[in-house]
Amino acid sequence: MLTGLAVFAASTFIDVPHAFAPLFDLGFYNVPWACAALICFLRARQTDQDRLAWLAIGAGIGLDLVANVYLGVHEVGLDAPIDESIIDMSWIGVYALYYIGAVLLVRTRMTGFQASIWLDGVVAGLGLSAITVCLLAGPSRTADAVASAPAMTYPIADELLLVVVVTAVGLLGWKITPLWGFLGAGFGVLTVTNATFLWQQASSGYTPGGLLDIGWPASVALIAAAALVSDQARTHHVSNRPMLVAVPAVFALISIALLAYDGQGRPLATAGVYAALGCCLTALVRLGLTFREVQTLADTRRLARTDDLTGLPNRRDFYERLNERLHNRSPGDELAVVILDLDRFKEINDSLGHAAGDALLVAVGPRVADVLRPGDLLARLGGDEFALFLEGASRDEAHMISSRMVREIAAPFVVGDMALHVEASAGIAVWPTDGADVDELVARADVAMFVAKSMRTAVELYEPERDRAYLDRFGVIEALRGAIGSDQLVLHYQPKLHLGSGRVRGVEALVRWEDPARGLVPPDQFIPLAEQSGLMGALTAWVLRQALLQAVTWKNQGYPLGIAVNVSASSLRESGFPDLVADLLRETGVPPHMLTLEITEDTVMSDRERCLDVLHRLRSFGIRVSVDDYGTGHSSLAYLRELPVDELKLDRSFVSTMNDDQRLGAIVESTIGLAHSLGLPIVAEGVETVDVKDRLTAAGCDLIQGYLLTRPLPGPALSTWLAELSVPRPSNVRTSSAAG
Ligand code: C2E
Ligand code: CA
Ligand code: CA
Repeated sequence: MLTGLAVFAASTFIDVPHAFAPLFDLGFYNVPWACAALICFLRARQTDQDRLAWLAIGAGIGLDLVANVYLGVHEVGLDAPIDESIIDMSWIGVYALYYIGAVLLVRTRMTGFQASIWLDGVVAGLGLSAITVCLLAGPSRTADAVASAPAMTYPIADELLLVVVVTAVGLLGWKITPLWGFLGAGFGVLTVTNATFLWQQASSGYTPGGLLDIGWPASVALIAAAALVSDQARTHHVSNRPMLVAVPAVFALISIALLAYDGQGRPLATAGVYAALGCCLTALVRLGLTFREVQTLADTRRLARTDDLTGLPNRRDFYERLNERLHNRSPGDELAVVILDLDRFKEINDSLGHAAGDALLVAVGPRVADVLRPGDLLARLGGDEFALFLEGASRDEAHMISSRMVREIAAPFVVGDMALHVEASAGIAVWPTDGADVDELVARADVAMFVAKSMRTAVELYEPERDRAYLDRFGVIEALRGAIGSDQLVLHYQPKLHLGSGRVRGVEALVRWEDPARGLVPPDQFIPLAEQSGLMGALTAWVLRQALLQAVTWKNQGYPLGIAVNVSASSLRESGFPDLVADLLRETGVPPHMLTLEITEDTVMSDRERCLDVLHRLRSFGIRVSVDDYGTGHSSLAYLRELPVDELKLDRSFVSTMNDDQRLGAIVESTIGLAHSLGLPIVAEGVETVDVKDRLTAAGCDLIQGYLLTRPLPGPALSTWLAELSVPRPSNVRTSSAAG
């Protein structure tokens, strides 16, 4: 290729003046094209990611070669008349192929492309076109030959190719890799050569076979060089780069200037004016889009850390900050965690309506904040529950501050035209005496709060002996201990539907307590108790065993369903847990890949090293691990990437109302994208309506779970449900949703 180029270049010096020499101008001239096309095709064979890109560019060079030869053969004097339209068509084809190739090269290297980035390209393209036309046509609206459409097409097409390369380099952080360097140089030489050619032709100064002719073979040689040095495509996440906004802004400004100049009674070429107008309009659209993108981004970030209603930090933020604080300890440090819960809030909410309840929750924040000192943090955990940490507070200080808070809250709140009275109870756990980590501290403060509430003392400090005895006094723990292992505990199962196939892939086991005295007790009410009284291990073992036995039953009935079991932090931490699971699998004969363990992100977060270890062991058996309640915890994305997990379950608080709240919808959609970029399938839980299901389907969600399919059902009832599902009945919500 280089030899061909060199010989031809030399010939432009020797071969003066402008006689067409077939050996050089048809022969050597075209060698670089033939070689360049070959290089691109060879490169295409070697790479997977860039195959199409190099095929397109190689085909473009090949097509260009055909046009060259056609023109050359005509020069030699074969008398068939030259057909201009064939030449134009093939050159347009060449550009289209280059363009496709360049864009493909960009796409394989980047994720997170946003519509605004494409619009930037259009703005730049139109702006460049406007400048080019106005410059080349000069200050005259007359139908000048140069300003005619086909003549303008080539320089503009050249510039668009350059725009693609410049944009790519910009998006990659202005780092010029060899690939983009050579490609940019190739397109650059092409642009300059074509523009000069056009200029010379307009002023009748072009000599064929002259120096300028080196530009064309040189440009294809550079493009081929790009193929030779092309790097392994490594994907790069495109974030909003403020620097890049400058590019469309500059072009829009220049276009405005051109329009103003035109408006001053010094008319410019019509095509240029239209291009300038188009550039400005596109820039406007782009601006609007940026606002929306930036807003969604900010919303997503803020929503992930703040409580929507009160604007206070949320649970995630609280855990994260407290965690950080506990890690940056110094000797002699003290810190108190307070859980604050409103009394009889539910009554107010029920009798006066949600609006009044919400207003009340909003008003609590400022009152409590009045009592806080610098360094303290107030957060809303959810419902009517707030959490605080008091920096450097001893037991006595924490008690004093909490009492003051409770008194502040007791003063009437004016909501609308009503004065509302609420009371609050606070429980305190002091670090490091009452607990070592965030989970422990919060759980203990919670127990103390429960005691304060039951004894109507408003504020209580955690006291291990008393609190355990207190809970025992209710007999709850004893009753629960008795329930585990007797037939008072039952499992209900809720199916997970695979949206792609419309089939049920597996079920989640959910425990219930059929207490003879209290009826069916939901897990939220006794799992925390089991956790605090050391019963969790026994409970988890029982659930696992029952669930696996049920899986065997279903398999025998012809439903080979995967089964998911919830595992709490304390169970996961028990040293014998992996062995227990392995034993149960062996005993029941269920293949490991049929079992999924659902753990919440907080579980792993609280004792990272240990949990990672256990998770790796469990997965080495072939068991699947799923991150439950994703979005409510406080793990970061970077962190999730390192977790050995097989599935993400998006929490129902995001899903259920995603169609009523734009921002929730956006979060759900971006989370699906995130899960997929990490290679994880995603389950949306809490799907209650067909609308939500449809939106999730459109967003590419993998599996759904929720009341829309069915509430959790006892084993036999679920068999019936499955049997009905396989008999399509269009009038039935369940079957129609499953079929859709
Ligand atoms: P989870 O793991 O998030 O379980 C899903 C919960 O969402 C279940 O509540 C289920 O009934 C409910 N749900 C399902 N579809 C919908 C829907 O469309 N809308 C709404 N609003 N809710 C829906 P459930 O059975 O009350 O369980 C509550 C929590 O108790 C579970 O949350 C889980 O964290 C825990 N849990 C349940 N069984 C066990 C268990 O065996 N072991 C442990 N450690 N925790 C368990
Ligand atoms: Ca779960
Ligand atoms: Ca869940």
